[in-house]
Amino acid sequence: MVQPRPFNDSTPLTIDTERSRTKSRDEAAGLKRKLKLIYHKALSCLGPQHWWPGDSPFEVMVGAILTQNTNWFNVEKAIKNLKDHNLLNYKRLYNLSDGKLAKLIRSAGYYNIKAKRLKNFLKFFSERCQGDIKRMSLAGTEALREDLLKVNGIGPETADSILLYALNKPVFVVDAYTKRIFFRHGLIKENAAYEEIQDLFMQFLRKDVELFNEYHALLVRIGKDFCLKHKPRCRLCPLEE
Ligand code: SF4
Repeated sequence: MVQPRPFNDSTPLTIDTERSRTKSRDEAAGLKRKLKLIYHKALSCLGPQHWWPGDSPFEVMVGAILTQNTNWFNVEKAIKNLKDHNLLNYKRLYNLSDGKLAKLIRSAGYYNIKAKRLKNFLKFFSERCQGDIKRMSLAGTEALREDLLKVNGIGPETADSILLYALNKPVFVVDAYTKRIFFRHGLIKENAAYEEIQDLFMQFLRKDVELFNEYHALLVRIGKDFCLKHKPRCRLCPLEE
């Protein structure tokens, strides 16, 4: 597990939409209470999830790209393959041909697309940060997020996973499980946008790396084990009212 480092960014990400500004005090207090309740129920039943599994921030960033549209088990195999070939290093990976990279990450699925996405990210990492994680983490969160989103193949969930889990920036990661759970609990609309859902956490919880890390990990666990797409297992779920 990558231990969270102290966060010391003088330009924290602030998301302040008209929607949240116009919430009544009571509504805001209610949301805050529900968000905390969900977190504490999940944590007390399931315990810490020890995310993100990875030996280094670079490995976490690679994993964040490889895990798109697949489960972690398949990603682990791809990462192990890269490690076995001594390629989990940005320069060696960057210099590898797309074809060879695709073969090595085959287990992660969509391997040709992911090889290109990984290369796009490595180009960004090289040009924007000189391949230096420390330099990358010194950048302001908002600016870095905007730049990551310009990389072809990196969407909000991947960008935010990199910011939170590799760089210890207090940014909440939203995924399909978060949407499903929060919609089923009446906290968001079914078609709520990514930023709208993220805004809920960023506005009503303290901006804390460890809290955001654990909260997202717990929602993934609940989504996988209980809040199934077609047959939610509410009777067994820690979030059952
Ligand atoms: S399984 Fe049921 S109780 Fe659990 S999160 Fe989903 S809707 Fe809520």
